[in-house]
Amino acid sequence: MERTFAIIKPDAVQSRYTGRILQCIEESGFTIRAMQMRRLSVTEAEGFYDVHRARPFFGSLTQFMSSGPCVVMALEAEHAIARWRMLMGATDPAKADVATLRKEFGASIEHNATHGSDAPETAAYELGYFFPGIEFSK
Ligand code: ATP
Ligand code: MG
Repeated sequence: MERTFAIIKPDAVQSRYTGRILQCIEESGFTIRAMQMRRLSVTEAEGFYDVHRARPFFGSLTQFMSSGPCVVMALEAEHAIARWRMLMGATDPAKADVATLRKEFGASIEHNATHGSDAPETAAYELGYFFPGIEFSK
């Protein structure tokens, strides 16, 4: 079993897609081990997306991510990191496969509904950042 870190981003929460996305998550075989609705500060969004600091969209992205509440989650499944990335689809919803969350719920390359860790190291870091010290229930 593997755990990954996932976010339902502010655009999807604002559009009332939270319930439908959670249903997809559970129907796709993930177990939600932790979940919280919270609004990131700009500083938290900047820290979270620090790898993108030099990109031209960094300011816009961090404003967007702190623009309203999001849902942060720990998801568990076999190969959870890769499987969650597959369920999300390509970063740009216009390029995402049908039956992916970003195709269904994303509005643009920036407002793309969900986040998922991209490697075991980032999953461990992001889970620790958002759920410090948590004992994930079994
Ligand atoms: P995430 O890290 O959110 O799971 P990702 O790994 O598919 O997405 P990244 O390249 O890490 O994509 O980009 C992080 C986020 O930055 C994207 O999800 C999207 O919200 C935003 N983003 C990426 N590329 C662009 C772009 N060209 N213009 C605007 N926003 C972008
Ligand atoms: Mg990424």
